[in-house]
Amino acid sequence: MYTEKNITDFIKKEPILENIIALKPVIWQNSKRKSMADMPDFSIKKEDMVAAEALWERFAPFFMKAFPETKITQGILESPLKELSHMKRLLNEEAPKIEGRLFLKCDNKLPIAGSIKARGGFYEVLHHAENLAFKAGMLKDSDYKAFATPEFKQFFNQYKIGVGSTGNLGLSIGIIGAALGFQVTVYVSADAKPWKKDLLKEKGVKVIEFSGDFSEAILAGRQQTDADPMAYFVDDENSNDLFLGYSVGALRIAKQLKEQNIPVDDQHPLFVYSPCGVGGSPGGTAFGLKQIYGDHVHCFFVEPTHSPAVLTGLVTGENSQISVQDLGIDNKTEADGLAVGRPSSFATSISSHIISGLYTIEDQTLYNLLTKLMDTEDEFLEPSATAGLIGPQMVLKTDYAKMNNLNMANATHVVWATGGDLVPEKERLEFYERGLSDILI
Ligand SMILES: *Cc1c(COP(=O)(O)O)cnc(C)c1O
Repeated sequence: MYTEKNITDFIKKEPILENIIALKPVIWQNSKRKSMADMPDFSIKKEDMVAAEALWERFAPFFMKAFPETKITQGILESPLKELSHMKRLLNEEAPKIEGRLFLKCDNKLPIAGSIKARGGFYEVLHHAENLAFKAGMLKDSDYKAFATPEFKQFFNQYKIGVGSTGNLGLSIGIIGAALGFQVTVYVSADAKPWKKDLLKEKGVKVIEFSGDFSEAILAGRQQTDADPMAYFVDDENSNDLFLGYSVGALRIAKQLKEQNIPVDDQHPLFVYSPCGVGGSPGGTAFGLKQIYGDHVHCFFVEPTHSPAVLTGLVTGENSQISVQDLGIDNKTEADGLAVGRPSSFATSISSHIISGLYTIEDQTLYNLLTKLMDTEDEFLEPSATAGLIGPQMVLKTDYAKMNNLNMANATHVVWATGGDLVPEKERLEFYERGLSDILI
């Protein structure tokens, strides 16, 4: 739908596109970012995020019953916030030096799904299940343990859920959907890893494979699901529920920062670096963090050099209208969850106002970071999830701190680790070895 002339005009207006098309790692600052005073009204608000957190509280008894491993946290799914002092030292051996403290938000350790999809994906399915149960008059005594009973499972078994996924979203929807009794179908793209498909099939989930990329899997999934009145489609390209589920992560991390006595204010800027696929998970957390910290939080997204979907949408101003393929970029990356050619329209419409910037990263760097993090902190992440680790140093290459007058010595940097725990041992070793060849940035 874009002509060669359109593309040439985009490049003339935004010369950074030349490097993006040449697959070079870039950092882009968002000149359209608004301060809180000028922020437009969004269709979702802070109250919606607080309401989303309340849903998790209601379902806590269900989790304790259906997933006993969540008993130790009273049925609440949360991950640690861990300081990375050894990794920071290692990163600092390569100039420029990171000022302030470096933390990892360990969503690789989120229970059950082992990825950030346990926030968005789980939330959307639970919300749907609650609606169905409520409409059927099954929630009279509001005991959510009932969601783990054969009676409820039988009720949900009349219903279907469909989702298009490169892997992790399908895993999360498949696991929670099957636990509730739904018939789940996951439409996967050609790049989905065999172990993820196997795990889904083990859970009784139907897996339909497509030869094309993520957008094609979503399209087919959406068409087939929408044709069935008993079926519900989780639409990664346009979902407020996924977004809201992710936003709850902001409330949780704010609590953790407070518990660890880490201030976020005028003199203590907070930087957050999040791997980005369609933009839902980084957008949801950024939205939430903005509601809490306003102008004191600075959110950066990261995409693979071969899949800069949100970057392309934001730089051109075309948002989800444009895909990386329109620019001749191949959308081929090893980074599961980030192999996305077209951004979420809902998430991008919000992110365009709130994010500070976005940088791209090469696949080999992801592996290098994975290996270094294992060596220094004994923490395993999947390749995508390591993308934020060079964030502080990428930002130091720009004038961002100076232009915004930030006290960097007091900065807190949070690298959002988005997944890893479900990766089998064999793949872990392969990833680690691929990262042994050196050079970091
Ligand atoms: C899905 C995913 C992301 C990105 O989330 P989006 O909502 O697609 O932007 C990042 N990392 C991992 C490991 C993921 O699975």
